[in-house]
Amino acid sequence: MDDVVIIGGGIIGASLAYFLSKEGRKVKVYERDPTYKKASFPLSLGGFRRQFFQKENILLGKFAKDFIFKIPELLKTEKNPNPTASIVTNGYLLLFGPEHAEEQYEALKNHKACDAGTKNIKGEELSKIFPYVSNEGIETATYTDSKIEGWIDPYLFHNALKSKAIELGAEFIKGEIKSINEINAKTIISAAGCWTNELLSDIPVVPQKHTVFRIKCPKHIPEMPLMGDLTTGVYWRPEGNEYLAGSPNSKFDAKDLEPEWNDFEEIVWPALAKRIPAFEELKLTGGWAGYYDCNKLDNNAVVGKHPKYENVYMATGFTGRGLMQAPGIGRALTELITTGSYQSIDLSCFAIERVLEKNKRPEPYVL
Ligand SMILES: Cc1cc2nc3c(=O)[nH]c(=O)nc-3n(C[C@H](O)[C@H](O)[C@H](O)COP(=O)(O)OP(=O)(O)OC[C@H]3O[C@@H](n4cnc5c(N)ncnc54)[C@H](O)[C@@H]3O)c2cc1C
Repeated sequence: MDDVVIIGGGIIGASLAYFLSKEGRKVKVYERDPTYKKASFPLSLGGFRRQFFQKENILLGKFAKDFIFKIPELLKTEKNPNPTASIVTNGYLLLFGPEHAEEQYEALKNHKACDAGTKNIKGEELSKIFPYVSNEGIETATYTDSKIEGWIDPYLFHNALKSKAIELGAEFIKGEIKSINEINAKTIISAAGCWTNELLSDIPVVPQKHTVFRIKCPKHIPEMPLMGDLTTGVYWRPEGNEYLAGSPNSKFDAKDLEPEWNDFEEIVWPALAKRIPAFEELKLTGGWAGYYDCNKLDNNAVVGKHPKYENVYMATGFTGRGLMQAPGIGRALTELITTGSYQSIDLSCFAIERVLEKNKRPEPYVL
């Protein structure tokens, strides 16, 4: 009998492999496609933030920053002595119209309770700090300017976690698990991302296609934070000398990962030009699409022990935030498995029972 088997070697699987191996567990990770062509993490925007509504998501975001900043010391290995995730700490700026303002003021109370270090300004004051932003239709905004939010290279982060887990004794095996019942292990963990529902049909986490565009603009604003305009749902950030911009349009049951090119002219460009006047002049240079691991019940994580099994745990449903939550989820589930309860951040609110009982706990700040 194996000790721990993890299904899925993406960012959540790699983080779990790292934290469990550190605790001396003997981990095997089964990954059906080690090139990770369709996995969510390499197709993500790499953002890490603490600007959420729910306290648990804020705390997971804070831990992400602490962990990411310690990558050189935590994840160095003999083969990879200088691990990096290419951190850019430009911060996040989230913009809210009048329809979201009240909710946002409530969220700010949670930010404060969690000592998140976020700042709040009125829409009319926006241009004092961000002169390239138009405040049309913006009631309130939150941002960070103390280098505590930003983005990383998801592939490098995954590689560093995986290499360290392997050095600590984890095995990554190429293979597809067709059914939980085929595994004989003391502990089984599903980290199958948006494909979770194929293994655990009672979990409503499914692939939701999202498109990201690569654009070039004659005006380069390298200090620009990762910005989310909640009045349109469009989000963007600098990427080298270009920018990446995500469409708010998403698709369930997508047959392929072809980007929704029409979204650019119809939705994304008009929204960008309205918010950043310099973006009136843009050139589309590329794009891609990837799957969110969408929890159709409430856009929130599903983490913990599955009540219908003796030894099956799972972590999924991150709906656009699984990369940044990976360190906190890896640590939390390891605590639950090795001690029987959460020790650092209490994630009981994400328990599988919530989803099985259709008890919604929506996280509104999905970009
Ligand atoms: C366009 C886009 C932008 C995003 N931006 C951000 C962002 O800025 N910040 C952020 O934090 N998150 C972001 N995300 C979300 C993030 O990428 C995901 O939440 C995260 O990658 C989920 O991690 P995972 O390990 O659960 O899933 P994945 O990364 O998809 O890994 C799951 C792995 O499991 C394997 N697998 C599945 N089933 C089986 C099986 N039966 N047997 C063997 N292997 C199996 C798959 O092959 C896959 O490699 C974004 C996602 C997209 C698509």
